[in-house]
Amino acid sequence: MLNPWASEIRRLVALVVLTLLVGLLTDKLLVVALIAVVGYLCWHITNLVRLEKWLRKDGSAMPPIGNGVWGELYYHIYRMRQRNRKSKRRLASVINRFKESTSALPDAAVVLRATGEIEWFNDAAAHYLGLSALNDIGQRLINLMRHPSFAEYLMQEDFSGSLEIASPVDEMMMLEISIVPYGGQNQNLLIARDITRIKKLENMRKDFVANVSHELRTPLTVLTGSLESLADADDNETLKTWRRSLGHMQQHNIRMLSIVDDLLMISRLETEDNKRDHCPVLLSAMLSTIYDEAAVLSAGAHEIKLDIPHLLWLMGDEKELHSAFSNLVANAIRYSPAGGLILITCQQREEGLCFCVKDSGIGIAPHHIQRLTERFYRVDAGRSRASGGTGLGLAIVKHVLDRHGAKLKITSQVESGSEFCCYFPADRICDPEK
Ligand code: ADP
Repeated sequence: MLNPWASEIRRLVALVVLTLLVGLLTDKLLVVALIAVVGYLCWHITNLVRLEKWLRKDGSAMPPIGNGVWGELYYHIYRMRQRNRKSKRRLASVINRFKESTSALPDAAVVLRATGEIEWFNDAAAHYLGLSALNDIGQRLINLMRHPSFAEYLMQEDFSGSLEIASPVDEMMMLEISIVPYGGQNQNLLIARDITRIKKLENMRKDFVANVSHELRTPLTVLTGSLESLADADDNETLKTWRRSLGHMQQHNIRMLSIVDDLLMISRLETEDNKRDHCPVLLSAMLSTIYDEAAVLSAGAHEIKLDIPHLLWLMGDEKELHSAFSNLVANAIRYSPAGGLILITCQQREEGLCFCVKDSGIGIAPHHIQRLTERFYRVDAGRSRASGGTGLGLAIVKHVLDRHGAKLKITSQVESGSEFCCYFPADRICDPEK
């Protein structure tokens, strides 16, 4: 292709020569030069007007025909517009494909601006959250979903957890809401999953355990009582021969009763409203009672030390805390051979309250530690049963601590002993006497 600037310069040189010729011949060089400059300017302005008109038309319109540098300019702009149209079309098809795939998602997805306004949502969001594309785009989601716990969740900074609430459209539909921050401008993607079926199954499981335990408790209590009376009746010759078997039956019956009691306790912890019975609990008094109970359980086989401050109050449920702490102390005794040392401590620190039970017992191998709080998880099932364990003690401890915002930390070394520490947040420490 010819260099457009070369032809433009040739055109200019020809104009200057012509102007000079005519100017000199007519002896009016200035007037002729002025006419030539104005003419040249007019030609450029005409081309500018044509360019502007063409640019105003839609991108597919053919460019005007131009000479010299203007022809080249039209051609380049035309190519650029064509390229733009192509990439726009490509982008539009990507967006359409994205919209189609997110619409097909079974979970609700809502894109939120940093300020909380809705930018976009999929079909499932309209169905689960009752959003309308016509009215709700640009609205703050917090104004449309007025559930108090949702507002609390949306206001927090840490979205690592999720929230379970009923759908604003249907009270029977349970949703699990989670928020994923993305992009550099603090945008958030809200995902809502329908967990109605999972919740139903979970409730069915909880109800089943509670009902079975409840139903089993009474016959087991009656059986235990009857076995006790039979074992005590030593006047009957036939019974004397059965004494060993009766002893076994009694032992197993008591074990079954303990399992049922622990299952009932877990189901109560799972179903009852958290914080309902929370009030200031005098831990020092409770731990003294637990110490006395531990002494009875150990029957002098262990050295038990209690190191706690004189007055120590904690906000919580007395029964639950007693159950958790005594479980830890009982375990320390049951899993420490005779002559072992058990240390019970409770310390108030800046970050909260720390209750620890340390023993010099059999210890636990590292790979078991993570799973100890699972129901019926036992390192050595035979040993646990022989010492009257149900395999549910640490599951109860975990539940109770969860309900008190506390954490359990287990450190242990095989053959050297274990330490179970419960960390309560500082805002649980209280003093009703002040
Ligand atoms: P169990 O009734 O079997 O003691 P737990 O839930 O209380 O059930 O404990 C689960 C398992 O954790 C126990 O079976 C035991 O193997 C282990 N364990 C708990 N406490 C201790 C401890 N202080 N020392 C060693 N092992 C322990």
